[in-house]
Amino acid sequence: MPYAGHWKTICPQLRRTLLSEICMDLNLELHPAHLSLWKTITPLLLENRIPQSLLWLGQAHAHKTLFVRKFVAAALCTKKEKDIQPCGECQSCCLLAQDVHPDVLYLKPDGQEKGIKAEQIRGLQTEIFQTPKCATQRFIIIESADRLNVYAANALLKILEEPPIHCVFILLAEQSSSLLPTILSRCQRFVFAGPSLPNYLALASYYDPASSRFVLMQQQEAILESLCDLIEDKISVCSLAAQWATHSLEDVLWVLYLLTSQAIVSSLVKAEMSREDALWMRFCKLANPVLLFFQLDKINVLVRKITHNINMNSTLALEHLLLGYVRKMDGR
Ligand SMILES: [Zn+2]
Repeated sequence: MPYAGHWKTICPQLRRTLLSEICMDLNLELHPAHLSLWKTITPLLLENRIPQSLLWLGQAHAHKTLFVRKFVAAALCTKKEKDIQPCGECQSCCLLAQDVHPDVLYLKPDGQEKGIKAEQIRGLQTEIFQTPKCATQRFIIIESADRLNVYAANALLKILEEPPIHCVFILLAEQSSSLLPTILSRCQRFVFAGPSLPNYLALASYYDPASSRFVLMQQQEAILESLCDLIEDKISVCSLAAQWATHSLEDVLWVLYLLTSQAIVSSLVKAEMSREDALWMRFCKLANPVLLFFQLDKINVLVRKITHNINMNSTLALEHLLLGYVRKMDGR
């Protein structure tokens, strides 16, 4: 049991910091639309009769991942409350909140364009036959299960036909029509209702792939990471503005406008972010939606100046704008 006792060896101060984050993470309030679904699954948790294969269906932003995370936490928590809320304090909750629980395995598509490959499913074969390390069950969460390629789907079917007794398979998918009927027949299905979220970043796909805006948008992850680093004081306003000076100010403002708008919407509806969206999660946690809204105003002012050919120093203008991302809320 390599993780046994690990939690206790962490210094008390760090443990307290982690605990507060963990509680926030695992005690996230469920989306109102999911309360009835939570009530439906509560007896499964209470009576410890979780089906071995579950399929959770819902739109990309239906908060599936958060819900399933909470479900797994409740199943594994050793001190869960009467209402099946994970305690956020036991070793299991702590390991899960840090994404290092040895009995929870995640599988997701290998890249945005590619589906889940057969090798990834076959890779599970040795894992799932290992006995649980901390708990009595092992949870295998397969994200975007509707993107299994045909070989992967057949490999998964073989596993689901004779699953190890200690394993629970949780498949997340947007639609059931892309899954093999033989897989569907082995899974207990749950359907999520959730808010649909506009995706402003998709606007880039309407641009000519050779255009500077399309090309710049391909670097959105790096741009977002730089913004996070800026807010966390890992990079200065001047050096970031210098880095982006190779692009036209108009294009940079356009990308910042889309990223900022998307972050505001994601924060306001507390949209689900999958593990692939760790960067978005980081940005939304760091940036306050009210301040982001001010940033949109500033971007609009700069764009108007450019449109009206008003003379300005591009570097200074960008630096001034970037300072707004670093600003803290002053209570106004
Ligand atoms: Zn717990």
